[in-house]
Amino acid sequence: MGSKKRSRSCRILAAVEGLEAKLERNSTTTFVMSLVIPVLCLLCVPFLVYRRPTLEWLQTIRVTAGIGSLESPEDKLLGGLLPPGFDESSCLSRYQAALYRKASPHKPSPFLVEKLRRYEALHRKCGPNTELYNRSIQQLESGHSTGPMECNYVVWIPHYGLGNRVMSIVSGFLYALLNDKVLLIHVDQDMEDLFCEPFPDTSWVLPKDFPIENLEELEGDATLSYGKLIRDKIIDNDMRFATKVTLPAYVYLHLPWYSKEWDRLFYCEDAQQMLRKIPWLLLRTDEYFVPSLFLVDEYAEELQQLFPERTTVFHHLIRMFPLVPIPFETMLNQIVNCTLNHHILPAINPQEPAAAPSNAVKVKAVLVTNLNSSYHDRLRDMYYEHSTTSGEVITVHQPSHEEKQHTDQRSHNVKAWSEITLLSFSDVLVTTAWSTFGYVAQGLGGLKPWILLRHPRPGVACVQAMSTEACFHAPPDYDCRARKGGADLSAVVPYVRHCEDVEVGLKLFD
Ligand code: GDP
Repeated sequence: MGSKKRSRSCRILAAVEGLEAKLERNSTTTFVMSLVIPVLCLLCVPFLVYRRPTLEWLQTIRVTAGIGSLESPEDKLLGGLLPPGFDESSCLSRYQAALYRKASPHKPSPFLVEKLRRYEALHRKCGPNTELYNRSIQQLESGHSTGPMECNYVVWIPHYGLGNRVMSIVSGFLYALLNDKVLLIHVDQDMEDLFCEPFPDTSWVLPKDFPIENLEELEGDATLSYGKLIRDKIIDNDMRFATKVTLPAYVYLHLPWYSKEWDRLFYCEDAQQMLRKIPWLLLRTDEYFVPSLFLVDEYAEELQQLFPERTTVFHHLIRMFPLVPIPFETMLNQIVNCTLNHHILPAINPQEPAAAPSNAVKVKAVLVTNLNSSYHDRLRDMYYEHSTTSGEVITVHQPSHEEKQHTDQRSHNVKAWSEITLLSFSDVLVTTAWSTFGYVAQGLGGLKPWILLRHPRPGVACVQAMSTEACFHAPPDYDCRARKGGADLSAVVPYVRHCEDVEVGLKLFD
């Protein structure tokens, strides 16, 4: 496969007011963390948890800062998003991550909580190595199917960086939830142990002996690719009506940003209905395709009940585009202009040296995440060398600078995941356009980020996101009813519109 359409290479994020206060108890700043659980977050909380080493580090911060505790078992379970009954020591973050954020004013709907409990029961019944799983595997090995089985599966295949992966897992999970299918994830070495098991008494990890090999190599021209099967008229969406029909035992859903129009027919209602007949779906995408599910009439009512509130909150992020690079000084100026104009960070007194931190001054911490350290270094020097007009002391931190994206290395992914999590604890987030890394942080933290525009306008370096949701970068443009391409799907329902950062993208709004 060719190189990526756009860079995944770096981002900078400013998380202000509080991190330093956590780190240095003598500051007068109170640590205030934001959390508004958005749709994205509601979906991903059950599995966006990670293992002990990172948690211990977070634990240190928490103890140092002496921050809050959850008051009731219901808070601990995030209003029912998390199931009770897990062995807590198997994954500290599962119940403790919420300790690092403000209680969310956005509670999950009772309908969603009930749906999650039903899903967990289904997953337990159909999970790897159960009798029903083995039966579905036998069907898979037979090479054909005649309709849905008692247990039907979506197998998620990783694609691109961690942000993209989390986005696509969330999308795959919602798709599975709406279709009573079981989500299994193909975990390669680079992701081993990164996420805890999200569902009690079972596993979501695809067993190593799964009969289809080399899943990562599947592409749009695969023999059982949905788009290809439809194009070649081997299957037809009208098979959804047939009572007796022979279908393949599995279908590969090829939905990366570079998928073709045939592949994207997946988003049409007739395809959704037809695909329910197939016991195994292999899904490969880097996209957050949740907005498209909101455009399928059949799901509208259920989605409304699951998510009466559709918006989320964001972080600030900065992104580089190696294919169309933005000069370093231009981007740095954009960051400074954005943060000064919106009073996120104070201006400096160029003639005055910086004040030393003391109990009397307010300290704001800026967390920068990026693959290299240049932005961090320049911001740090700016505030270490000069006092600020507001009298605040600004400290600048960057946990790692990996220089290059190494998604195939587990240690690299652990750092990326830790930084996404740290970003999610911010009070204010500044992000670069297009970044799924930032989307995950904003979703987890319930933050509305200030987005550094890809093409800033005079005097407008950044805009604040209107909703916390992630952007579906490469949505279909096919009008399923009129059966023709070139449609603007942002005009179909008021709550699915173009994204702030990606003009052609689609996103959920309230
Ligand atoms: P996106 O490029 O923002 O859409 O996010 P992805 O997460 O899909 O891909 C970017 C990948 O590059 C991440 O998963 C990391 O592997 C790496 N990366 C990019 N920026 C950073 C960063 O600031 N910190 C760390 N640790 N890794 C980064």
